[in-house]
Amino acid sequence: RRHPSGRLQAGRHRDVAWRRAATRWPAPVLGVEMGKPLIETRKVSKVYRMGEVEVHALRDVSLTISEGESVAVMGPSGSGKSTLMNILGCLDRPSSGGYWLVGEEVSQLDRNALARLRNRTLGFVFQSFNLLSRTTALENVELPLLYAGVSARERHTRARDALARVGLGDIIKKNKNKIYLFI
Ligand code: ADP
Ligand code: MG
Repeated sequence: RRHPSGRLQAGRHRDVAWRRAATRWPAPVLGVEMGKPLIETRKVSKVYRMGEVEVHALRDVSLTISEGESVAVMGPSGSGKSTLMNILGCLDRPSSGGYWLVGEEVSQLDRNALARLRNRTLGFVFQSFNLLSRTTALENVELPLLYAGVSARERHTRARDALARVGLGDIIKKNKNKIYLFI
């Protein structure tokens, strides 16, 4: 009561510290200076041409996402979310504009260069499709590391670790011999 605002301030700080410690992943960025930019787009546009018709799926999208940030892209159906995700994920290229991924200009790279960059820098979490149905959860997580030429032992360790970090560690134990599709 003597210093109400001061006490409240201290309480808030404690609360924030506790929340940060208890949150496993991704770590929230509260009062912490942002890291370096990982994703930067400048005036990215995408036009789909269907015969005579042009669909402007994206118009001049400029955004920066920095290390440690969590960003959700929201909008109604048809507003261009998937188109943007395909470009940010290096699955497709913009019709115009610039895209820098970890400082590297990627909008002009060819298909093979995009595939290598995807493998090195990006992680995709798919919901139900795009997972291989005849492989286990662990093998699905290991697959990008296989393409990257990582040794079997390290693949195994890193995939187990990644599943454990997002609370899916038990899935491996319970379904050791089963064909398993997850997420
Ligand atoms: P969202 O994911 O937000 O629903 P999309 O990015 O899928 O939006 O679509 C944005 C616009 O681009 C829509 O008008 C859609 O019809 C059009 N579109 C998306 N993909 C294609 C494509 N391959 N060819 C032609 N038009 C497309
Ligand atoms: Mg979509």
